[in-house]
Amino acid sequence: MRMELFAIDGLPLIKKGDDLAAMICERAELEDHDSVVIASTIVAKAEGAMVQKSDVVPSQRAINIAKRLGKDPVLVQLVLDRSSDVIIEFPLLLVENLNGHVSINAGIDDSNVDTDYLLELPHDPDASAKGIGKRIADLCGRDVSVIITDTNGRAFKIGQTGVAVGVYHMHPIRNWQGEKDLFGKELEITEEAVADELAGAANLLMGEAAGGIPVVIVRGFEYHTKDDVSVKEMYRPDNEDIIRKGLRCLRQ
Ligand code: GDP
Ligand code: MN
Ligand code: MN
Ligand code: MN
Repeated sequence: MRMELFAIDGLPLIKKGDDLAAMICERAELEDHDSVVIASTIVAKAEGAMVQKSDVVPSQRAINIAKRLGKDPVLVQLVLDRSSDVIIEFPLLLVENLNGHVSINAGIDDSNVDTDYLLELPHDPDASAKGIGKRIADLCGRDVSVIITDTNGRAFKIGQTGVAVGVYHMHPIRNWQGEKDLFGKELEITEEAVADELAGAANLLMGEAAGGIPVVIVRGFEYHTKDDVSVKEMYRPDNEDIIRKGLRCLRQ
């Protein structure tokens, strides 16, 4: 078995309105069932999900939360605007984004963007992934899957990793239930977070700084689907999520 990952070189600084699919097709010989892994940062830039800090007027709630956190009220206001649920406010601002992804600060990012601006996550990253995947099919006739990533922290462990925030033509979870182990025993509950694993691997090539590598191609991992997919498949139903329950108790 063999799986390859390679970076796409030579992408410029991305601007609002840029056609990412065209830029990718111009620079890579894609094959059917490749996974095209794209940093959310450039998807957000292309979609104009960028906010000039001086345009944001923080509410009293944002000011209060920001004061406790020692953060900029402008950032906190933007996080509140992009959230459907604030899970904890202190010592970190952990929210459920409007699109269902759970992350610190709603994934709002000030790295690799002009200093006067904050970059939001794409507002509907599954839709962004689908749009790019379909456009790649139109432009270069290749049936790829797409994973949009962000760098996130993890509970319990230090060290951040790339995770999937949007998917197209790949289920984010692979269910091994019913498969046999080496001793013929049936697996009962093993679900593998394949989209996060690929995001993590691709993130190794992207790095976090000035490398200028926002797109990585994964070739040789066969988990393609034509189904409609969503990162929401990765999240536990609210009533089964004991971590979220615990954190909510802490909030009160
Ligand atoms: P995030 O994980 O989505 O927040 O993205 P990062 O800020 O960590 O950036 C991931 C990679 O994309 C790094 O190699 C950055 O240098 C690169 N990157 C970010 N923005 C751009 C851009 O506009 N153009 C290019 N070519 N690379 C970028
Ligand atoms: Mn960043
Ligand atoms: Mn980010
Ligand atoms: Mn990153």
